[in-house]
Amino acid sequence: MRKKMIAGNWKLHCNLREASDLLLDLRRLLSSMRHCDFLVIPPYTALSQAAQKLEDSRIALGAQDIFYEDKGAFTGAISGPLLKDVGCTYVLVGHSERRQLFGETLDSSLLRVKAALRAGLKPLLCLGETLEEREANRSAEVVLAQLEAVMRECTLAELEELVVAYEPVWAIGTGKVATPQQAQEVHKLIRERFYAQDAALAERIRLLYGGSVKPENAGELLAQEDIDGALVGGASLKAVDFAAIARACA
Ligand code: PEP
Repeated sequence: MRKKMIAGNWKLHCNLREASDLLLDLRRLLSSMRHCDFLVIPPYTALSQAAQKLEDSRIALGAQDIFYEDKGAFTGAISGPLLKDVGCTYVLVGHSERRQLFGETLDSSLLRVKAALRAGLKPLLCLGETLEEREANRSAEVVLAQLEAVMRECTLAELEELVVAYEPVWAIGTGKVATPQQAQEVHKLIRERFYAQDAALAERIRLLYGGSVKPENAGELLAQEDIDGALVGGASLKAVDFAAIARACA
């Protein structure tokens, strides 16, 4: 059985003081929860401190983006080796805010996945359709194209390192959550694509749902057969809510 994962994307929130308080609360509230794995994804400025605060805990550390070159004249970019050095084990790739606001493309997601793997980081690949695309019945096509852009260039060993998050763009930060049935339908589709590659991989790979997950809706979402956890934005900034979401998948 796949162990569930609850990941918190803090986005552009938390100065060092706030990050420190949040991490201390999370350590306290999550320490006895063994039924799922935890990941926090603070802004870059809090990563070094977070790595220290999370030492000897069961909470893994991730970053919100990675540039696809390892070093060089790339002002403002962050590389895999630097993220690894600071203590990250995961990195988000293809978050819809990166795709929409920062011009990340299908090709550059692939390069980012490769850069993460080169550095020994696990890519948490985000996929999702916009409202327009859903209304035009194009959800499956869009999500599978985003997935394909990465899968077609990765070896089986590389794909084993991936975690995938289905995050419908219309549900991110909007308070509009996909129904458990809508989410399950897309998750099933994604898992079927992995089955076409390799059955054992498909059984193992974790597929998270993201988009306005809250303590009140987490239970039903996380009970779906192909939903193996949650990628949480807004609600991850409150330790009690993050812990309640984790409890919902017990
Ligand atoms: C996210 O940023 O990945 C996310 C799912 O945000 P929210 O939970 O706030 O919708």
